[in-house]
Amino acid sequence: MGKAILAQNAIVSSVPIDAELLEILACPNCKTPVKLVKNGTALKCETCHRVYRIDDDIPVMLIDEATIEPELAG
Ligand SMILES: [Zn+2]
Repeated sequence: MGKAILAQNAIVSSVPIDAELLEILACPNCKTPVKLVKNGTALKCETCHRVYRIDDDIPVMLIDEATIEPELAG
């Protein structure tokens, strides 16, 4: 259906974040694909500037958990 499950448990995965996973990850706020920042420890949406942390290789794609960092480069 093209819709990832981005609920409370985000994506449960035992493998590191990779390109395939990144392709299906999008900002839950504005649906923009996110990109790795902070040496691969966080994901950023460049549209609304929200930064989602990665917890034990599991991206936390929750708007409530995101921080907004407009000045973050890369
Ligand atoms: Zn966004």
